[in-house]
Amino acid sequence: MTFSIRDIQARCAALGHMPGPIDGMMGPQTRSAINDALKDRDGRRLPDLFHPSGLHRIHGHWTAGAKGIIDLELRHYNEVIDHDGRVHSGKFPATAQATYRVGHAASHTLNANTGAIGISVDCMAGAVERPFNKGSAPMTWAQVEALAERMAYYCGAFDIPVSRYSVLTHAEIQPTLGIRQRFKWDICWLPDMEKPGDPIVVGDRIREMVKEKMEMPWAA
Ligand SMILES: [Zn+2]
Repeated sequence: MTFSIRDIQARCAALGHMPGPIDGMMGPQTRSAINDALKDRDGRRLPDLFHPSGLHRIHGHWTAGAKGIIDLELRHYNEVIDHDGRVHSGKFPATAQATYRVGHAASHTLNANTGAIGISVDCMAGAVERPFNKGSAPMTWAQVEALAERMAYYCGAFDIPVSRYSVLTHAEIQPTLGIRQRFKWDICWLPDMEKPGDPIVVGDRIREMVKEKMEMPWAA
């Protein structure tokens, strides 16, 4: 299992130890964040910061597809959620992301698939960001609810904190982790919004829902 410096920085931040900017550079701030995080976890080596599965992040997406889940979507995400909020397993299980290799795991986020679970809501075909047009298959609340529920499940199963650095939408990857994406705006819009908003603000709303789901009695 190998972790990039950026992944280590994001993990420290998710665990509450800010490493300074998430820039992929091993500097004094990053070193001290690692030491503090290790102390907190009674760990001695870098891998002790992580869950043994190697999974450390969850990315929320939309497919930009029409109603009806297709094979291509199931290959690109570990789970896809249909308009009614039903969850469909992708071709690769979440655990396949631990050691990402093309053709052996889901390719859902450019240069950020290793250790990252990809869950997608199947919607937003033909949608346009500006001027906003929600297209022929806008996201439903059932999908948002199911997305938060699945994120909560994986957070619990793999010791992933609900934080801006570990549970993110695709649109947050570039601003938060500094990994360039190609103008992705999933998920900057929720069904009660007039037009897309700031990715971090929308991400915060989703994370609030995830936290609520984690407090439900069935989430152990
Ligand atoms: Zn995406």
